[in-house]
Amino acid sequence: MSDSSLTFAFEQSASPMPVSERAALLENPGFGRVFTDHMVTIRYSEGQGWHDARVHPRRPLEMDPASAVLHYAQEIFEGLKAYRTADGGASMFRADMNAKRFRDSAERLAMAPLPEELFLESCRQLVKIDRDWIPASEGGALYLRPFMIASSVFLGVKPADEYLYMVIASSVGAYFKGGAPSVTLWVSDHFNRAGPGGTGAAKCGGNYAASLLPQKEAIAEGCDQVIFLDTIEKKWIEELGGMNVFFVMDDGSMITPPLGGTILPGITRDSLLTLARDRGLTVREERYSIDQWQADANSGKLRESFACGTAAVLTPIGRVRGHNGLDFTIGNGGPGIQTEQLRTALVDIQRGNAPDPHGWVERIF
Ligand SMILES: *Cc1c(COP(=O)(O)O)cnc(C)c1O
Repeated sequence: MSDSSLTFAFEQSASPMPVSERAALLENPGFGRVFTDHMVTIRYSEGQGWHDARVHPRRPLEMDPASAVLHYAQEIFEGLKAYRTADGGASMFRADMNAKRFRDSAERLAMAPLPEELFLESCRQLVKIDRDWIPASEGGALYLRPFMIASSVFLGVKPADEYLYMVIASSVGAYFKGGAPSVTLWVSDHFNRAGPGGTGAAKCGGNYAASLLPQKEAIAEGCDQVIFLDTIEKKWIEELGGMNVFFVMDDGSMITPPLGGTILPGITRDSLLTLARDRGLTVREERYSIDQWQADANSGKLRESFACGTAAVLTPIGRVRGHNGLDFTIGNGGPGIQTEQLRTALVDIQRGNAPDPHGWVERIF
């Protein structure tokens, strides 16, 4: 049987969460702390290829302490949402892009690439079996977390020959109730996220591990999030720890830093580029420096800035601070109009409340 047509074995949970308990959790699920009853696992070994695809009750992993991932961090992940449709069904947004990016990340980390169809099917199966966990509340969704670890038991430094792919799901509420409040960013000038030739374009846990100390610094400085600069000239804006960034000018045109190996190719970023062009806005993928950002914010040439990613969709940036007294406000410091319009346009497509001209929404059931 070929890899991509694996049949999933099903083991239904014998003790799913009682309906009343689940309902209580879904009232205010927050982000990433309420988990569903089931999970998916698929195994890979060099001899057998991808095999043993299962949907089964969510349970702890048993791992040998010499499992490669625990030592050399050969791990990648994805994040995407399944939405409840108005008629009680479910859909996913551009999951094919996540499947493709997962392959790209696997390649960069020298891991076995998972066939894209298997990625998609694993997500669909989990959404189907845990359908009751998709919040019906406005802004709620089922956040899917596909990930893969090197599971070979070996301390030698080389790519593993066994991998374990899994998908777990978490019921999430609206990231922000009402409109997203704007955030203050801290410019990290002595820590970097990613350099040329590194793993910046791969969605791997290691990138996040490296971003935690600068993020901690941002919090200690009274800011919400850290924003990173390029490693060579230390002036070009790259992205946040887990979100891409856009700049909105006074003529409505937008700039976002170009992909090129050090920035994660966000699917929200790509979708917003397309939606903005659909609306006749000029969008440029080009480098933008921290000095220019400050000058344009102060002169009024720059009207808005926002960060974007699957979890929070669009987050307005109200203020930017850094070492040596760097401190400037964007617009009036609150959410901007174009940011709000783009957010609404994107969310309406994702949730099936607007036409889907690009075929981004897949109906699961
Ligand atoms: C996941 C991620 C993003 C956003 O990507 P989306 O596909 O839009 O969710 C941006 N930057 C980093 C570093 C990320 O890990």
